[in-house]
Amino acid sequence: MTFQYIPYQRPDIHILLEKTEDLIVQLKQEHPLSTIIDLIQSFFKLQDDIDVMAQLANIRYSLNTSDAFYEAERNFFDEHSPSITEAFQKVIHTILSLPQKESLKSHFGALFFHKYEQQIKTFHPSIKEALIKENKLITEYSKLIASARIEFDGNILNLSKMAPYMQSLDRDTRHQAQLAVSRFFESKEKELDDIYDQLVHVRHGIAQKLGYDNFVQLGYDRLGRLDYTQKDVDVYRRQIEQDVVPYVASLIVRQQERLHIDNIKSYDLSIKFLSGSAKPKGDKETLLEAASTMYQQMDPTIDLFFQFMRQHELLDLDSREHKESGGYATLIPNYGYPFIFANFNGTAHDVDVLTHEAGHALQMYVSKDLIPEYRHPTLEAAEIHSMSMEFLAWPWMELFFKEDTQKYYFQHLSDSISFLPYGALIDHYQHDIYEHPNLSKEERKQRFRTLEKRYQPYKDYDDDAFLNKGTYWYRQIHVFSDPFYYIDYTLAQVVAFHFWKAYRDNKEHALKTYLSVCKVGGSMTFSDILKYHDLPLPFDENMIANLMKPLKTYLDSIDDQHL
Ligand SMILES: [Zn+2]
Repeated sequence: MTFQYIPYQRPDIHILLEKTEDLIVQLKQEHPLSTIIDLIQSFFKLQDDIDVMAQLANIRYSLNTSDAFYEAERNFFDEHSPSITEAFQKVIHTILSLPQKESLKSHFGALFFHKYEQQIKTFHPSIKEALIKENKLITEYSKLIASARIEFDGNILNLSKMAPYMQSLDRDTRHQAQLAVSRFFESKEKELDDIYDQLVHVRHGIAQKLGYDNFVQLGYDRLGRLDYTQKDVDVYRRQIEQDVVPYVASLIVRQQERLHIDNIKSYDLSIKFLSGSAKPKGDKETLLEAASTMYQQMDPTIDLFFQFMRQHELLDLDSREHKESGGYATLIPNYGYPFIFANFNGTAHDVDVLTHEAGHALQMYVSKDLIPEYRHPTLEAAEIHSMSMEFLAWPWMELFFKEDTQKYYFQHLSDSISFLPYGALIDHYQHDIYEHPNLSKEERKQRFRTLEKRYQPYKDYDDDAFLNKGTYWYRQIHVFSDPFYYIDYTLAQVVAFHFWKAYRDNKEHALKTYLSVCKVGGSMTFSDILKYHDLPLPFDENMIANLMKPLKTYLDSIDDQHL
């Protein structure tokens, strides 16, 4: 069945609540272990049935935001998801208090229980109001960002329409574009400060109500981290500061030479080559055919997966009117269908969709038969599948980039390395904020600018006094919407660097390891996935220094001045 024929039906919340109550009653009765296991399996089925409809409503609305039917369905889920969560939490409570817990641990694995225990810790009915407020503030932030109307080049533009100007090959244009964007954020400074201040206090309040000292550990628990602590992340960030920041500084010097300028400024950083960035050659169909060829030659399982995606029409890649912006990969359970949503724009981004999002979708495809709690790993582990696929795809990049291939390699690897200090900065800043929730709005900016100078000493804002004040984080949505998530991208990135090297050393072995990591899904923690596969752990001292050696050797061997 192709995607469009999957039937949708709005779930009946009353029936759902009855079913969960009934399940709780049954679980509390005396039963042989096999019956208890069946009851828990029927709970999984209940969760999946709801999830299918929620996914369909979400996907179909994002494909066409003018579709009134799916708009109503999406609103239905927004409205009822707190009650659904609460009902499921009650079942989880019951499962956690079962006398057969030890036998169930050996059946489902101990991690299953640890995940449930952690989820329970992060919620209590008494914080419901505060959670609603938190969500409202996040929506307010998104609306404010979406409301941007910037006068530039004779047009009124939103922030994403400003991007091409910010990346203009004409230096004065990108300089003026940066100033125009800064003027927009400056005009909203008070509102953004207020939203963030309220978010910090709401989160701190929730944490205290749940018995935490401050929001930091609650933030970690919300992300499902069971295997590493703030101290581990601190060790990791320090490695980035020591072993990556100086190298990125040297890459910036090379970039400055390539751009034939003396004093590189913040608005120059996105320009990699005087002749522009590497671009894919050909339209959507050409790129899709190239991807099919690539996966067919890469591995039989991955080939089957990609054929499955195309046959069942599980890729929606065109940019169209009324389609939501951005991109994602998600899974429709029961059917076991991954779905890839993207907006192609003719840049290297389109190839990233076919590698990065395909990596996510592949993991969902190969671990679709696991129980719901194990199907999706924590976010830093989930990005391993996608970011590593970007590197496993390297031998086929010529199919996409033709004469721009060398340029693409240099750009991809140097950009990925340059991202690490920024990721660490955003993470460090949030630790600072939630450890000191009572900092004033001005103090927060000063702290950000001080950290920025440590992690990105090469970032010179020139005459942009507003960014100089320490306000760059205003435009990083994760700071508002998903506290502590950002470092996950960097954790996955360094593991992906390992795959970059491993694949060059031994293709077959690296691919086998990669597929095994995908199949494990979320049945292990991030650290256990790495240990189990003999992969280096980012929290170990010297991990980054060792990892950087081959990357530097490779980048230093490229004559980037003549690309
Ligand atoms: Zn991703």
